[in-house]
Amino acid sequence: MRWRYLRHIVRKYSKDNNRFHVGIVGAGPAGFYCAQQLLKTIPGCQIDIYEKLPVPFGLVRYGVAPDHPEVKNVINTFSKTASNEHVRFIGNVTLGRHITLAQLKHSYHAVVLAYGAEEDRKLNINGECLTNVVSATKFIGWYNGQPQNKNIKVDLNAEHAVIIGQGNVALDVARILLTPVDILRKTDITEYSLEALAKSKVKKVTLVGRRGPLQVAFTIKEFREMLKLPAVSTNFYEGQMNTIENVIGDLPRPRKRLMQLMYDASQKLESRGDKSFDILFYRTPISLLGSDKIEGIELAINRLEGDKAVITNEKYTLKCDLAFRSIGYRSIQADPDIPFNRASSIVPQSTGIYSVGWLSSGPIGVIVSTMSNAFQTASLIGKDFEKGLLSDNPKPGYSYISKILKDKDRITIDWNGWTKIDRVEIERGMKRGKPREKIVNVDEMLKIGGT
Ligand SMILES: Cc1cc2nc3c(=O)[nH]c(=O)nc-3n(C[C@H](O)[C@H](O)[C@H](O)COP(=O)(O)OP(=O)(O)OC[C@H]3O[C@@H](n4cnc5c(N)ncnc54)[C@H](O)[C@@H]3O)c2cc1C
Repeated sequence: MRWRYLRHIVRKYSKDNNRFHVGIVGAGPAGFYCAQQLLKTIPGCQIDIYEKLPVPFGLVRYGVAPDHPEVKNVINTFSKTASNEHVRFIGNVTLGRHITLAQLKHSYHAVVLAYGAEEDRKLNINGECLTNVVSATKFIGWYNGQPQNKNIKVDLNAEHAVIIGQGNVALDVARILLTPVDILRKTDITEYSLEALAKSKVKKVTLVGRRGPLQVAFTIKEFREMLKLPAVSTNFYEGQMNTIENVIGDLPRPRKRLMQLMYDASQKLESRGDKSFDILFYRTPISLLGSDKIEGIELAINRLEGDKAVITNEKYTLKCDLAFRSIGYRSIQADPDIPFNRASSIVPQSTGIYSVGWLSSGPIGVIVSTMSNAFQTASLIGKDFEKGLLSDNPKPGYSYISKILKDKDRITIDWNGWTKIDRVEIERGMKRGKPREKIVNVDEMLKIGGT
C-alpha cells in the first residue's frame, strides 16, 4: 500500500511541470552527500546547489591539508553527483546577499541549508588584535588559496609559534609550519604560501591546551604524522605525561592506542633535528602580551576536576613571536529568516527547511560523519515527502531564482564553468609538478567559467 502511494506521488512530481524541487545551499561535503542520497530517496527530483564561491567542495578544497591528497578523493564522488541530469550547480551566489530564504522557500518544495561553519571562535582576551596573532581558520584558508583569506598578514620571520588548541586543525597548522618546503612543493598548496614558508624562520611550535593528555582532541593519524616529520623532535613538558602511564591500560581501544603512542614519544629523549614540536597541557591563555607585535602569552596553570579544567592562581609566561588561535569554528545565521539556534550556533531541522553537515551538527567531525548526517537528513526529507508534509503545489525551482540573479547582473558558474576552472588549475599545476595550482582570484575564476 505504502509503495503504491509512494509510486503515485513520485510519478506526480516527476512530470516536468510539477517536479519536486530541492534547493541546497552550500556545495561542501554535506550538500553533495545530501544531493546524492536525495536522488535515490525521491527519484526524479530536481536538485539545485547554490554556492557562495565560484568553485565547489567547501572545506575539502579550502580546509583539508594539502599534504592529505587521499582525503580529497571524495571530490570524485561529488563530481559524479553534480554530473547527474537532475542536479544543477550554481556558483557565486550567497544566501543572505544575492538570494533570500524567502525566495528559496517560494521556489522549492524543500530547502536544505548546508553552508557549514566558517567563522572561527575568538579567545576574547587582551591582546587578540596584536600583530602576528592569527586565526588558524584564516591561516588554513591562506595556504589553501581561499579567496577571502589570500591576503592575510602572517609574518613567518618568527622563531617560536604557539598554537592555542589541541585538535586536528591545530596539528594541521603545526605540520605545515614544520614540514620541509620541498615536501609541500609536490602538493596543491598555493605558490605564494610556499614562497613564504620557504623563508620561514619558525623553529619551534608549541601546542597549548587547557586540559591534559587524556582530553586531547587530535587523533592518532595526525599525531603519528608529527612524529614522522623529518628533523623535528616532539617534546612534552616535564612530568605532564607521567600521570597517564597507569591509566592507559583501562582506556577504550582508539584512545588507548593514541595515549600509548604519546606516552612512548614522551619517553624518547633523543633530538631529531633543529626544529621542535612541543605539547603543553593544563594551561589557559589569559592575555596576549606585546606592545604592537605579539611577544608572549600569559597562561594560567590549570588543574583538572574530573574532565574540567579549573584555573589556579599560578601564572606562567610563554615567550613567542607568532600565535594562532585554533579553538573551533562557528556557524552564522546567513539570513534573518533562518531558524537559527544562537546558543548552539546550529540550525535545527524543521519541515521544509532542513540543515545538514556542520551547520546541523556543530563544527565537529570528519567527512565520514558529515556524510552520515547528510544521509540521515535526506531520508528525513524522503519521509516528510512520503507523508505529504511538503507542499504539493507546483514550484518554479531555479527558473524563479535565475530571474532574480539576472536582474542583479550576477555572474554565476555552472558545472561546466567549474570544469573549465578545474582544467586551467590542473594545467598550471602540471607546469610546477603539483596536482593543481589553485586560482585565488574570484574575477579570474569568473572570467574562465562564468555565464
Ligand atoms: C582545517 C580542516 C581540516 C580538515 N581535514 C579533514 C580531513 O583531513 N579529513 C576529514 O575527513 N575531514 C576533515 N575536516 C572536516 C571536514 O572538512 C568537514 O567534516 C566537512 O567539510 C563539513 O562539511 P560541510 O558541507 O558541513 O561544510 P563545508 O565543507 O564548510 O561546506 C560549506 C559550503 O557552504 C558554502 N557557503 C557558506 N556560506 C554560504 C552562503 N551564505 N551561501 C551559499 N554558500 C555558502 C561554503 O563556501 C562551502 O562551500 C577538516 C576540517 C577543517 C576545518
